[in-house]
Amino acid sequence: MSTHETDAEPSERIQGANTREQVLATVGLISVHAENVHIEAMRHGRHDLELDIDRILAATRDLTDRVERLNGADPQAIWSIGGLNPAAQQALRHELRTPLNAIKGYGEMLQEDLASLRGTPLQAAVEHLVSAANDLLTLFDHMVALSVRKSHPGAIGEEAIPPVVSDKPQRSPRDRDTSSTTVQSGTILIVDDNEANRDLLSRRLTSNGYRVSMAVGGQAALDALTEADFDLVLLDLMMPDINGLEVLQRMKADVRLRMVPVIMITASAETDSAIHCIEAGAEDYLPKPFDPVLLRARIGACLEKKRWRDREQDYLRRLEAHTKDLQESLKQQTATSELLKVIGRSIFDLRSVFNLLVEYCVKLCESEHAFILRFDGRVLRLVADHNVLPDMKAYVERHPITPGRGSGAGRAVLERCTIHIPDIRNDPEYAYYGTLAVPLRTVLSVPMLRGDEVLGVIAINRHEVRPFTDSQITLMETFADQAVIAIENVRLFEEVQARTQELAHSVAELKALGEVSQAVNSTIDLETVLATIVANAVQLSDTDGGSIYVLHEASGEFEPRSTYGMDEAVIAGFKAKPIRIGDKTVVDQATVQRVAVQIADVHHDDASRVHDSILRAGFRALLTIPLLGVDRIVGALVVRRKRPGEFPRETTELLQTFAAQSVLAIQNARLFHEIEQKSRELEIASQHKSQFVANMSHELRTPLAAMLGYAELLREGIYDALPEKSLPILGRIESNGKHLLGLINTVLDISKIEAGQFKLNLAEYALGSIVETVMVATESLAATKKLAFKTEVAKGLPYGLGDEQRLTQVLLNLVGNAIKFTDAGEVRIAVGAANGYFTLSVSDSGPGIPADECERVFEKFRQVDSSNTRAKGGTGLGLAIAREIIEMHGGRIWVESTLGQGSMFRMELPVRAAAAGAT
Ligand code: ADP
Repeated sequence: MSTHETDAEPSERIQGANTREQVLATVGLISVHAENVHIEAMRHGRHDLELDIDRILAATRDLTDRVERLNGADPQAIWSIGGLNPAAQQALRHELRTPLNAIKGYGEMLQEDLASLRGTPLQAAVEHLVSAANDLLTLFDHMVALSVRKSHPGAIGEEAIPPVVSDKPQRSPRDRDTSSTTVQSGTILIVDDNEANRDLLSRRLTSNGYRVSMAVGGQAALDALTEADFDLVLLDLMMPDINGLEVLQRMKADVRLRMVPVIMITASAETDSAIHCIEAGAEDYLPKPFDPVLLRARIGACLEKKRWRDREQDYLRRLEAHTKDLQESLKQQTATSELLKVIGRSIFDLRSVFNLLVEYCVKLCESEHAFILRFDGRVLRLVADHNVLPDMKAYVERHPITPGRGSGAGRAVLERCTIHIPDIRNDPEYAYYGTLAVPLRTVLSVPMLRGDEVLGVIAINRHEVRPFTDSQITLMETFADQAVIAIENVRLFEEVQARTQELAHSVAELKALGEVSQAVNSTIDLETVLATIVANAVQLSDTDGGSIYVLHEASGEFEPRSTYGMDEAVIAGFKAKPIRIGDKTVVDQATVQRVAVQIADVHHDDASRVHDSILRAGFRALLTIPLLGVDRIVGALVVRRKRPGEFPRETTELLQTFAAQSVLAIQNARLFHEIEQKSRELEIASQHKSQFVANMSHELRTPLAAMLGYAELLREGIYDALPEKSLPILGRIESNGKHLLGLINTVLDISKIEAGQFKLNLAEYALGSIVETVMVATESLAATKKLAFKTEVAKGLPYGLGDEQRLTQVLLNLVGNAIKFTDAGEVRIAVGAANGYFTLSVSDSGPGIPADECERVFEKFRQVDSSNTRAKGGTGLGLAIAREIIEMHGGRIWVESTLGQGSMFRMELPVRAAAAGAT
């Protein structure tokens, strides 16, 4: 007898008996309904449902067996609600439930499948079956709940007992229909040792659109989880090998599985354990038997949560990546701008730009080391490096890289593009380091290009196989561009510097040449010119001293005429041992061969005559430029330098110009000297001539005056009357004598003018009476030529101040010429006064004077047309004397003439002369 039997209260026993009856009846009902379902299905020809119905029948048999076995064991104890023994409790919680769950689960599936056959006997049979299964489940729950309350009164509050029924959401079949059509996505792992459970779950979930995998136990689940990714695990709590809680704990301990959500599958009575699982990290739990709506809702919610979490994770990952990218690009930008700053600052210092560059390459591209190599058109040579292993560096220095496929840098030059070798050991062509053991694996070489020209290569390397990222490659290409900019900057800067220097030099040359030609043109002092030349020559040729030698043709010696930067001792040496034509010195050689000769080191100049003193003065190199005239040697220009070495071609060319200037100066000086000499001689000769003419004229006048005086006495009959016949002869003697006297007077006047002895005698005169005198003297001549002679003298002319006799001479000359050259027509004198000046004109109707002669007739001995003048006679001196006289009075004289119509000589004469040379 069991204790239950004896201890049980009678009421409880009655209750137990009732319960037993109820259970047995319900199980029987389930059997009948299950059979019914089978029969109706066959009748409807629904063979497609056969498999599920077989499962229902099997589960029904299983349930019936178990209930009977339980009942056969100890019916009273079992069904006594108040004192369920442990075996009974276990049975109610688990064993009985498993087949019952299967019946209910498959039954509900059929329900869904047959939803469209509402009202048919098959559908009604399935409804009854499910309803009976539900009733039995409710009964079991009730029994378990009562038993727990009875054995642990107060331990767990009523509300702590999971309201199994209330877990079922209220719904209408319509809800079920619509929800079942929603297709879900996700991969779910079902873990359950019970096949029916697995099958039911799997079918439901698959029909809901999920991908499903299954595991039969805990270990199988853990294996499946390591092999594939799952979005969700449905994990049975009670399993024979590793139970659900442990699987869950292991998953949560594994970083890779931690994030996979888990829903626990529990028997409805295992709520405590379910709560435990949730504390251990499960997302949720699902009580068996599965309510399809609850199942879908919990799985959907869980997967949605997972999706959000995945999305969040993904977002976080992307955010992280983005932040990393940003940080990287910020670092790159900082480096780039830093580099640009350095490039800007380091125009003279390419090295520090390169050093910074390699440092950045290593830092920003996560490479072990970096190189910069410059390409000289043939090979690449190392110019900067960072972190390069010493033996690698030594190798690169000893083995300049040639363009070719054997190395990254060589390949970059060859192909003019970035070369990225992810692993040199997998690159059959890579052979640069030969047998040298280098840890290189990943290599990146970027050419530095200016247009098509390769200026060099930047290379970075890694000691592990880890290809560079696109952004690192882009950065390296930016660095290469910047290196090119830096190189270009330096090149341009140096070019500008060189140009500026060239320009400055040219300007200095031009200035020096300008100074020299200025000296040559403006200074007749040869010493000054030569000193200017030699000083400029030395300064511009960048030498330390120089001298100009002039050849003295008679003695054949080169005389040092000017020196610059040479001390007294050397100059004294030059003078003591003069250089001569033919002595084989540099000066001799240069002048004889007519070429520039240089000595790069005076030590080797054995022909020098002043060798020792030159060396003592510190000179080592010299350049000699010959000074050559058209047909003779003029001398030599020598520059000396204290530094030994060849003179550049430009220096020789420059000094040729100075030499030419020197020749010019020396020849100018010579010519000037000659001209000066000649003029001095000429002047003396001219003075002698003038003196002689003046003397002679004077001497001639005395006998002529005597002759004319005696002739006059003869004509006046002082020595008795002369025979009549002789009178005309006497007249001719007198007139010729007067003519001769006139000629002599003219010559005398002109020689006085030339000798500067011509003087005016200033006195008051009346211009009218001068005109009167001239008219009286020439009237008869005009009459002889039948010329009309007219005078127009303005009234009220003022008295003038001047040399009356000379002014009369001028007027006489002009009127004499007019009469002389005019053969018909008239001669007219007109006189007036205005503004302090007398105006005089003598006009005629003669041949006139050509325009180009009008000025020249006032020159000495000038006659317009020699044959005509010859015919008319004359000396060509009259107008020259007239102009001298008028200008000495402060006036002017000129002629206006129209050829063939006559001439008019005009004068303006100050009324009051303040004449130069007046006494
Ligand atoms: P000459 O003694 O030859 O007249 P002048 O000095 O008086 O010397 O005159 C110079 C020249 O000017 C003359 O030879 C003549 O050719 C020209 N000449 C001067 N007066 C006249 C004139 N009235 N008509 C034409 N020619 C004139």
